[in-house]
Amino acid sequence: MATQLEISQPTLRLPLTPFKNEPLTDFTNAENARNMKAALTKVRAELGREYDMVIGDKLIKTTEKIKSVNPAHPSEVVGVFQSAGREHVETAIAAASTAFESWKRTTVEQRAALVHTVACILRERKFEFAAWMVFEVGKNWVEADADIAETIDFAEFYAREALRLAQAKTPVQLPGEGDRLMYVPLGVAAVIPPWNFPCAIMAGMTMAAIVTGNTVVLKPSHDSPAIAAKFFEVLQEAGMPDGVVNFCPGSGSTFGAGLVEHPLTRFVAFTGSKEVGLDIHLRAAKTQPGQKWIKRTILEMGGKDSIIVADDANLDAAVEGVAQAAFGFQGQKCSACSRAIVDEKIYDVFVERLKDRVAQITVGEPTENKAMGPVVNEKAMKSILEYIEIGKKEGRLIHGGGPAKEAGDGYFIQPTVIADIAPKARISQEEIFGPVLAVIKAKNFEDALAIANNTEFGLTGAVYSTSRDKLEKARTDFHVGNLYFNRKCTGAMVGAHPFGGFNMSGTDSKAGGPDYLLLFTQAKSVAEKLGDAPPLEK
Ligand code: NAD
Repeated sequence: MATQLEISQPTLRLPLTPFKNEPLTDFTNAENARNMKAALTKVRAELGREYDMVIGDKLIKTTEKIKSVNPAHPSEVVGVFQSAGREHVETAIAAASTAFESWKRTTVEQRAALVHTVACILRERKFEFAAWMVFEVGKNWVEADADIAETIDFAEFYAREALRLAQAKTPVQLPGEGDRLMYVPLGVAAVIPPWNFPCAIMAGMTMAAIVTGNTVVLKPSHDSPAIAAKFFEVLQEAGMPDGVVNFCPGSGSTFGAGLVEHPLTRFVAFTGSKEVGLDIHLRAAKTQPGQKWIKRTILEMGGKDSIIVADDANLDAAVEGVAQAAFGFQGQKCSACSRAIVDEKIYDVFVERLKDRVAQITVGEPTENKAMGPVVNEKAMKSILEYIEIGKKEGRLIHGGGPAKEAGDGYFIQPTVIADIAPKARISQEEIFGPVLAVIKAKNFEDALAIANNTEFGLTGAVYSTSRDKLEKARTDFHVGNLYFNRKCTGAMVGAHPFGGFNMSGTDSKAGGPDYLLLFTQAKSVAEKLGDAPPLEK
């Protein structure tokens, strides 16, 4: 472990090459499949270990533990973790505050080098990280690979973005003056991620914070602390000084809420449900005794995402896109399609074809790369099954409709399609976060757009149509943060599709985009009358 400001990673060779997305792995290639199987064997042998909480340079054990289990086999323990409570808030924030005093004085090149080194290490250990996700949250190989590729993308992208931000210029230089704009760090961040992109979102928010000079208390989700622990090890290996990121698994409602409320917390980077996001918003808004700033919150929350299928759509593409976006990773993506809004002229044929396509989806063991694995935990399973029962009353069951018992003893649910759902029905409005798709009939394209916009959310959406006029109407009127035409509404790529939602889907922070790091900094303008002091060397 490195001590304060001993940054031991190699220095950056500048300029960095232009950013390129990490390629996704083709598992039909025999060598890739072999590598993945070998990684699964390696990780399987490491399951069940206990991990320390790390605050500053201290390794901490708590009496209470968090057990992370494999959702495909709930009796299999992935790892045992310490559980931070309210009593750990003070120490964690103090460690991050102390580290901030020196970390904020590092150069942007040093910080970008750290994050770039993280990308290099992760690239070497891609299969291993994917294997951890297969065991801990039930991703199949393809989904797990996409998650680690996105993590590498965030690292590479934010390293470059931090360097770019450091070159910012004021739009005007007054004659006789040196006018400069500096993006300086904010302070201590509470980073609170969800379990569903257990690597990419957790690591993305953390790296955005540290590359801009902030320090972090990282509280991973109860359901995915192992992946966060592995990522934390990579930060250490890359030369991160103690206290820059503090690894603190713990309860959201006690430790998480305590972090948000602490007067020395400068900002909160959160991704998760609407309910928790709004609670954080409220808590962070209340000024605490001794607090010197208005806390900033970056809140990315839930979705109820629609794909519109117009009467002139390429039906094969639409059926495929809807099936993939609704059932990829068991529908547990904030971007997942949970509503297909279909023009009445093609409704019946679309539903028939979708039914045939969904019938081909296999449910089972994620280690064997089945199309659909388990949902994340028992509570999620119960809630999703309840929604399915509500849906059966609200519409016509087309496929699925219950647990997938034949898949094993884990939390497996059949891919479920319910048609003839009214636009304001509960399963058309509430985030289910599971493999449940509502199909809704629209009178025409205008009606479809009105239905698509009728929820409180505004995260992703897609339109399948061959009409330029329809697409242009959707471009202006479909009110979501991430809109796609003639492709599915999941699978945002760093750099190409900056990600974040409108309305109750969050603060639209646009992760993976050119504006993201601004949220982790504050701009300082410095104007100097030239001539009185020697000129700046750089
Ligand atoms: P969640 O809101 O239950 O938990 C998210 C995190 O908040 C966890 O680390 C949890 O421990 C913590 N937490 C819980 N209560 C807290 C409190 N009172 N104070 C502080 N922290 C607290 O969400 P989840 O089940 O982990 O993730 C699924 C949700 O995340 C879905 O709603 C999904 O749509 C959303 N999500 C959104 C995006 C996006 O970019 N908009 C991306 C992924 C997931």
